Amino acid sequence: MSGILVFCRDCGKQVASSQTKEGRCLDCQVRQSVADLRDEHARLWRKRERYRSQNANVEQIGRQIARTEDRIAQRIKELVPNDRDAVDYLKRELEAARGQRYTIKGV
Ligand SMILES: [Zn+2]
Repeated sequence: MSGILVFCRDCGKQVASSQTKEGRCLDCQVRQSVADLRDEHARLWRKRERYRSQNANVEQIGRQIARTEDRIAQRIKELVPNDRDAVDYLKRELEAARGQRYTIKGV
């Protein structure tokens, strides 16, 4: 890759300046743009676990989770022009979102 290398002001990674926006690398741009949806996802996920433990109907919550994941995918697509890269980012964000419930459990 050509171009000037700069340090991302959030994570400190060295990246091509052409890939940064406001001093942030693409990773950080993606993470920031989906942060609110990830919180929403975590909230719904916890809700579903709670409902499930009460044997309540979780079908609707499952649909809401799927919709949130679609919105995450959409935002990533807007930021990441390369399709294959976008899929990688999506996978990473969803894994993080689905794993998030463990770190906030018990709060
Ligand atoms: Zn960064």
